[in-house]
This record gives sequence, C-alpha cells and structure tokens, in this order.
Amino acid sequence: MSKIENADLVCSRCGDETPHELAYAGRLLVKITCTRCGKTIERDLRSEYLADLSHRVATKPRRMLRRLSRHPLTFAGTLPKSVSAKPMELLSDLKLVWSAARTPSHDD
Ligand SMILES: [Zn+2]
Repeated sequence: MSKIENADLVCSRCGDETPHELAYAGRLLVKITCTRCGKTIERDLRSEYLADLSHRVATKPRRMLRRLSRHPLTFAGTLPKSVSAKPMELLSDLKLVWSAARTPSHDD
C-alpha cells in the first residue's frame, strides 16, 4: 500500500497550522491533504516516479512508460522480482501517482 504519513503544515485555506496527510508513492510525495478542510494538493509525478522506478530496475523510463501505457494491468508483473516482490504495493503506488496526475490541483 502507498504510505500515508501525518504532519502539521500551514494550510493556505485554513490560514493556520493543521494536521495534514502526506501520501507517498515509494519515496515521492504525491498528495497532501489538509485533514481540517479537505484541501488537497496533488502533483503530477509520473515521469519522476518512472525515473525513480527505473533506477531500481535499470531500464529506460521511456521503455517502461510505453509498456505501462500498453499493458497497465500486466506492467507490474513484468518487472524484475526485486521490484515486483510487492506487486500490490506497486499497483497502489501507480494508482496514486496516475490519479493525482489526472486531477488538476484545486488550489483556490
Ligand atoms: Zn485546511
């Protein structure tokens, strides 16, 4: 599963320091949510995530991106064992990164 950590950060909507949930995919911070007002900041980290993943599997990000876009469901299963030992965790990370990238940041 993607990691969720908690931290007190200043929320621009609340104008105060509030508890936030930080959602990580691997070591990348993908999504920040204010637990008081629900304000969410999401980042498009698809290229960063693939670059990070590619360091672990020693393959080219462009090739991985092509494989992922063609066969998203089997992508995790094609990775070396060192990376795909936890396929559900990887899929969860991918889901988080991709859903955050699809949602425009609603920073009002
Ligand atoms: Zn807030």
